[in-house]
Amino acid sequence: MIQDIYPHNFKNSFIPGLKADDDSLIIHFDKDGKLLVNKHGKPFPRLSDLDERPQRLTYLFSMDEDNIFLAEDEQIKASDDYSHVRVRDFRRLKGVPKKSIFEAFTAKQLNSWYLNNRYCGRCGELTGRSKIERAIVCDKCGNTIYPRVVPAVIVGLIKRGGSRQDDQILLTKYNGRSDVPYYALIAGFTEIGETFEQTVAREASEETGLKVKNIRYYKSQPWGVVDDILAGFYCELDGSDEIVRDEDELSVAEWVRRENVVLQPDDFSLTNEMMTLFKEGREPV
Ligand SMILES: [Zn+2]
Repeated sequence: MIQDIYPHNFKNSFIPGLKADDDSLIIHFDKDGKLLVNKHGKPFPRLSDLDERPQRLTYLFSMDEDNIFLAEDEQIKASDDYSHVRVRDFRRLKGVPKKSIFEAFTAKQLNSWYLNNRYCGRCGELTGRSKIERAIVCDKCGNTIYPRVVPAVIVGLIKRGGSRQDDQILLTKYNGRSDVPYYALIAGFTEIGETFEQTVAREASEETGLKVKNIRYYKSQPWGVVDDILAGFYCELDGSDEIVRDEDELSVAEWVRRENVVLQPDDFSLTNEMMTLFKEGREPV
């Protein structure tokens, strides 16, 4: 999965007063949210690779020995070796190490948070940055804003057959996502006041009209590009297997036997890992 970057060491703790130096890696998103990457080889520039030092550099996190900073300037001056690409295209470029994709996803989340909180939501004043922790602060009214992570679930819903070979899993495809032609699992955001298990049951019911039982946690995955933390659950069908598809949300919802599960082309997502386990008969019971 995208976060499985061992032996690399990701450290996200805030380091007060840390300043960028020539070796710092620089991540920049343009106004359309596209990411600055090198066209050949190492994806992100070091500060010394840029034609001009950005005005506003904010420490994000470190990976191994590299300190990674966000350039918050609207424009950035870099040579023709660099261009801005969509993060989802960057993810599919050949030869980009997984740790760089994880860095891009995580930086994207922090970039959105900084961008969306330039003004205080409580009193409307321009905000500033805390010097002691990763927080945006309003000096006028005292409001302190921390990064928010949005919880969502992924559901591996299994219909048990007479034997393990006869088991089937519910696979879906989302409407309006022609850029993602792959099968996925039922998924959805946790609503306020809801447990993860309740989200699993509600999403299964809303998207397919199915009831579930034996809900059990599998693993989680940060997915910073959309501010998420995903929690994966397996569960079993309870009662009728008749699918009533939510046509607004899904273009496909169908029961698929283990041998017929078509996997995604890369190993980044928790969804794909959960589908892989089912395909190989290794899902936890
Ligand atoms: Zn305020």
